[in-house]
Amino acid sequence: MCTSPGGDAMRTEFHRDAALEQLKRAEVPRPIAWTVHAADAAELADRGERCQVRRCRNPVTVVTWRWWRSTEVARVLLAEHLVCTDHGQKFAERHHIEVEPPSATPRANPFKASQ
Ligand SMILES: [Zn+2]
Repeated sequence: MCTSPGGDAMRTEFHRDAALEQLKRAEVPRPIAWTVHAADAAELADRGERCQVRRCRNPVTVVTWRWWRSTEVARVLLAEHLVCTDHGQKFAERHHIEVEPPSATPRANPFKASQ
């Protein structure tokens, strides 16, 4: 039994307004940053991942998560970046947080949680 997901334009507008209203009230979590586990750092290096800050090519040692309100999709989105020690520290300072120590086991913190 397949019903079309469509709906008319007015209905879509309505949903969008409601979503935007909800977005305004949505809680945006505090940014976080943590040091990646040594095993994960090695795996990232194997995959050729580098610090994602422009013009920086240092190895990845820190993961940063920052949430933001996107009016485009009317949702709170998560921006994840894999960065080096320096840029991880700068991110932490900018947001008045500490870079958290690595977890005891690899991948206790998921990467690519965005989307
Ligand atoms: Zn960097």
